[in-house]
Amino acid sequence: MAKLRSLRQICFGILPVTNEELIEKAISVLNPRPLSTPDIKAGMVACALLTKGGKVYTGVCVDAYCALGFCAETAAIGAMITAGETAIDKIVAVGTNKNILTPCGRCREFMYQIDNKNHNCIVLMPKGKTSLLKELLPQHWYEEYAKVNNV
Ligand SMILES: [Zn+2]
Repeated sequence: MAKLRSLRQICFGILPVTNEELIEKAISVLNPRPLSTPDIKAGMVACALLTKGGKVYTGVCVDAYCALGFCAETAAIGAMITAGETAIDKIVAVGTNKNILTPCGRCREFMYQIDNKNHNCIVLMPKGKTSLLKELLPQHWYEEYAKVNNV
């Protein structure tokens, strides 16, 4: 049976990316390796995100001393923003065992702040589960801040 195509697919020629394909994209950039010393490393976590525009961006983490470095999600989001996009449709991160990892609090907040559409982006979770970003940030601080500051 033919799959129904969304209006977005028909109008813009955007092909769907399945959750499995997005996970495979993330796994394809996993590459744990030391950088300048054995303790300064990259590629232990990899991320792939699909934008509302239908493009996939990837990134890997970098861990360095002095709290330097960044998450794989941050790297993928940076690539997305560099290309001029901000709205995430869905996102996944994987660890060295190709296991799905949930985004840390900083990455959740980062996604939340860069585009209001991201509040409803789909976060792939372990065990085949999914969650909306806003469900991972309940009682978000910005709601009260916006009220008090008339934003
Ligand atoms: Zn993070």
